[in-house]
Amino acid sequence: MSLFQGLGFAPVIEVFDLNRRFYADESPEKVNLGLGAYRNDDGEPWVLPVVHKAEELVVSNRTLNHEYLPICGLPEFRQAATRLALGSESVVIKENRVLSIQTIGGTGSLRLAAEFLKQKLHLDTVLISSLTWDNHSGIFKATGYSQVNEYRYWNPGTKGLDLDGLLADLQNATEKTVVILHTCAHNTTATDPSPQQWKQIVSVLKERKLIPVMDCTYQGLVSGDVDEDAYPLRLLASEGVEFLIAQSFSKNFGLYNERLGNLAIITKDSSTIDEMRSQCEMIIRRIWSNPPHHGARVVATILNDKSLYQEWKDQVKIMADRIKLMRKMLHERLVNLKTPGDWNHVLTQTGMFVYTGMTSPQVKYLTSKFHIYLTKMGRINMCAMTTKNVDYVSKAIHEAVT
Ligand code: PMP
Repeated sequence: MSLFQGLGFAPVIEVFDLNRRFYADESPEKVNLGLGAYRNDDGEPWVLPVVHKAEELVVSNRTLNHEYLPICGLPEFRQAATRLALGSESVVIKENRVLSIQTIGGTGSLRLAAEFLKQKLHLDTVLISSLTWDNHSGIFKATGYSQVNEYRYWNPGTKGLDLDGLLADLQNATEKTVVILHTCAHNTTATDPSPQQWKQIVSVLKERKLIPVMDCTYQGLVSGDVDEDAYPLRLLASEGVEFLIAQSFSKNFGLYNERLGNLAIITKDSSTIDEMRSQCEMIIRRIWSNPPHHGARVVATILNDKSLYQEWKDQVKIMADRIKLMRKMLHERLVNLKTPGDWNHVLTQTGMFVYTGMTSPQVKYLTSKFHIYLTKMGRINMCAMTTKNVDYVSKAIHEAVT
């Protein structure tokens, strides 16, 4: 009998399972609204033209080689990534109060944050938003946190933010609880606090001495402006809070499979940086040892060149604008069809997703009758909607909820 007999199956990872079923489906009308990846109006993945340009520069540079990068990654990438999050005028950066580390995607960034806080600060309790990307709890549980609890976030009655619940749950948290917050484009509810609400949240985080880990995966894809979307990060920094930023470059650079992220850890005291770096290096050495270079060189090339940076910002805006257009078109169609319910949230929600409020049987109906794939909680990726399929999808939603 094999050592490996009787393992059983791990739970299915829903978005990847949806993808597999989507590709196996032979219907010409099929639509994949599941996976959170950008598509152009032909429904195709989009390699940003500025990324192509930067890749050519990287590949043609004969002075580069395939030596190991430093454990913490490519310095010119890490610095530029942190500047992107905190702003070029950031006092935290000027005062050398931030440690930046290149990671394996946003996932690797969250995992490193979890490991560092657990191993080195002995923290054991984390709060995640009620409804969130499922890997938030997964990563912290896998790292050994014994308390992975939820704070209130979504109010199904108003289809909006439960600010009072959120603030009350943070008020009741014990000192040094780790709190994961979405910087913008909250995945799954597509609902973000307003700047005013962020001020209230940050004030409680500060007063209760909680430790925010800011998941920053969709910077630029809400407003089309990377600085505007970074508002909560800059607010936390200006309030003197010690916090972490887990950045991903998968979505806003379209570099999904390059696995590029950055973990920025903001401290009150620059004298702690060298020891923090040394401890993080040892954690990384035991997990991935050192990061790959290609994505980091591409992003560093773009962020460190004035004209390429402007091109990238313009292309982020193209993505954000296309998402907004698809929201408008879907909303118009549902209103015209007199689809039961209030669909205003399709317009007002932010980022890549719409949290539709459709039930799991309605979702099943969309898949079995119309070959439309989406997560069973009814979240749809607006980027997968196009001017060509929006009529089809709208009619299908109408029929599913009628
Ligand atoms: N956080 C959130 C909220 C996400 O939606 C995702 C990707 N779906 C990630 C982190 C992970 O990003 P990456 O693919 O860069 O690991």
